[in-house]
Amino acid sequence: MKASPGTTGLILNEPLLWEIGQKGRSGFSLPRRDVEFYASPEEMSANRLDFPDLSEMDVIRHYTRLSQWNFGVDTGMYPLGSCTMKYNPKINEKMASLPGFTEAHPLLPSDLSQGILRLMLELERFLSAITGMDAVTLQPAAGAHGELAGMLIFYAYHESKGGHRSKIIIPDTAHGTNPASAALCGYRPVSVKSNEMGVLTPETIATVMDEDTAGIMLTNPNTLGLFEENIKQITAIVHKKGGLVYGDGANMNAVMGIVDMGAAGIDVLHLNLHKTFSTPHGGGGPGSGPVCVKKHLEPFLPVPRVVEENGKYVLSENFSDSIGKLHAFYGNIGVMIKAYSYILSMGPENLKKASQLAVLNANYIKDRLKGVFHLAYDRPCMHECVFSDKFQEADKITTLDIAKRLMDYGFHPPTIYFPLVVHGALMIEPTETESKDTIDLFIEACQAIAKEATENPDVLRKAPYHSKLKRLDETAAARKPCLAG
Ligand SMILES: *Cc1c(COP(=O)(O)O)cnc(C)c1O
Repeated sequence: MKASPGTTGLILNEPLLWEIGQKGRSGFSLPRRDVEFYASPEEMSANRLDFPDLSEMDVIRHYTRLSQWNFGVDTGMYPLGSCTMKYNPKINEKMASLPGFTEAHPLLPSDLSQGILRLMLELERFLSAITGMDAVTLQPAAGAHGELAGMLIFYAYHESKGGHRSKIIIPDTAHGTNPASAALCGYRPVSVKSNEMGVLTPETIATVMDEDTAGIMLTNPNTLGLFEENIKQITAIVHKKGGLVYGDGANMNAVMGIVDMGAAGIDVLHLNLHKTFSTPHGGGGPGSGPVCVKKHLEPFLPVPRVVEENGKYVLSENFSDSIGKLHAFYGNIGVMIKAYSYILSMGPENLKKASQLAVLNANYIKDRLKGVFHLAYDRPCMHECVFSDKFQEADKITTLDIAKRLMDYGFHPPTIYFPLVVHGALMIEPTETESKDTIDLFIEACQAIAKEATENPDVLRKAPYHSKLKRLDETAAARKPCLAG
């Protein structure tokens, strides 16, 4: 085995700024003042605030040390299932940082904003082409926000048909945000079970779909990383009873340029630009969850919308059936620029290849770890694979122990205990951007941990050893958080 990236390294302690400060220290030096001192009442009260006195170096070291406690996709492999933590090329950040974009004000008249308006419209068209849908809104700020937009569109559609429906079908493999978004719009989620192969059957849907059901929220590939192969029959059943099909497309990284969601019968689909299209999920910044619809639902999309009029791009509120506005101004523009740059720099063939490699990598891990961890569904997976701690049960080693130990080997743990349908789930999503060398190291680390579980289980129960903080009391951390540091 090559050396794993895990190390004790020089991880430095860092107290609070208030504990570092020394009266009289300062981060700047100015010439002596040659005018009388004057402070306004506001400044006087600001002066009474308890800010520590710090030198420039105090501040630089403080924040640099804190940043080194962090782990991100730029540090190492981050196989967090369901989050698509892939490497995001820096060229896309650079494009989003161009002064023409960063200095644009959202209140500028459209005459002075032709470039960004064109970019938005073209991005909408790219996303339509990638998904096989007809029209797009870029407004929602996240996947869950896109789901909310989708449910409002469902509601507006049924109202336009003169009827109100009260229920939504949601499979047991759905992301928790799906039932929450449906409930926010007043719909009652009706849970349905996936079968022993981890997918939905047309029969299950046929038994619950009725004329009081607004439709179904379907994730494809689903949260088990499996392709819903009966999707066409299922969407046909829902449509036959006048319902709509919502596609949760957060897992689009598995099927870009491969699956035509429109042809599969999806009416509304959200994407996570901050997973698939070059912004890291949970990256601390804003997200973007565009919603794509088929032609018959376009009138309901949020306003304002970018339209082309006489060769110019303008923002129009002129859509009387619109569900209204969902976000200040037009959405999170920076994320859109990165997605646009990513799509252009990849091109259709490479987007397709990225998905193919994401799927290949996940299947490679699935096959090599099959005897090491219990594989929940032994069949080809898409971009992620789900294991459990069943094999380690006899040694009283849990998914949490395995995840914590992986940190010692230098890997961010995978998603654990999700999806809920798999007891003790370990959900691994390598993404297309990891090399075979790195993936092999990860696999070897997992093999070593499984060996430790049988030979020396006590070691696992106290892991991690190399991290700044060791095993935490997670219940106490959640119930009695110490926010002071
Ligand atoms: C991530 C995810 C969401 C929610 O997206 P956010 O941007 O975190 O709100 C919804 N559904 C699925 C399947 C996801 O993976």
